[in-house]
Amino acid sequence: MRATPGKKNATIELSRDGFTIQVVRERRRKRTVTFDLDADRMLLVLHVPAVMPDTALEDVIQQAVEQAEEYLRRRMRRRTPQNDAGLLLRAQQLNERYFDGKLTLHSIHYVTNQRKRFGSCSPTAGEIRISARLQKAPYWVLDYVLLHELTHLVEPSHNARFRELMKRYPLAERARGFLMGAAWAAGVDIAEIDMGGAEVEAEDAEAETKGAKD
Ligand SMILES: [Zn+2]
Repeated sequence: MRATPGKKNATIELSRDGFTIQVVRERRRKRTVTFDLDADRMLLVLHVPAVMPDTALEDVIQQAVEQAEEYLRRRMRRRTPQNDAGLLLRAQQLNERYFDGKLTLHSIHYVTNQRKRFGSCSPTAGEIRISARLQKAPYWVLDYVLLHELTHLVEPSHNARFRELMKRYPLAERARGFLMGAAWAAGVDIAEIDMGGAEVEAEDAEAETKGAKD
């Protein structure tokens, strides 16, 4: 590991324990060491002072790899809930985080009869239904749909206030993209996660009746 001398920052790349590690020696950095992890690419970028000796750098790399592995282990443990009890638990956690626990949720279930939407909410009854297809989605996609339906408990329509509340979810755009792709792959036209409020229930009742007839 030898950095090229010069005025610019010098970057070296190496592999360690499955990670690609880029070490950026920064001339303006005095003592601190930081690192960024791109978990999907297993890429660790370390920013270290240009003057750091190789022996110290070796320890820094080791520590960064250990922290990254710990992060990945924690992430792996977060799984999408596979039953209604897990779904309720996650909804309560989101209620705490986004609404200070103030939402009144009476029931939440996975359902298999929602072909054209990923979730639905009856705000007056405090009932939420989530498409069982989402059991196979990443947890952050389910979180997005859950938060959408939970938000309907305080705002039934997809108006400006609703959109403002949903902006608080950091992975909203990624989750929307995932759902659009999933709908496309399933050959289903889903413009919105649900159609919001009372319409949804009417449509659902119709779908269920049709299903019963078939
Ligand atoms: Zn909605």
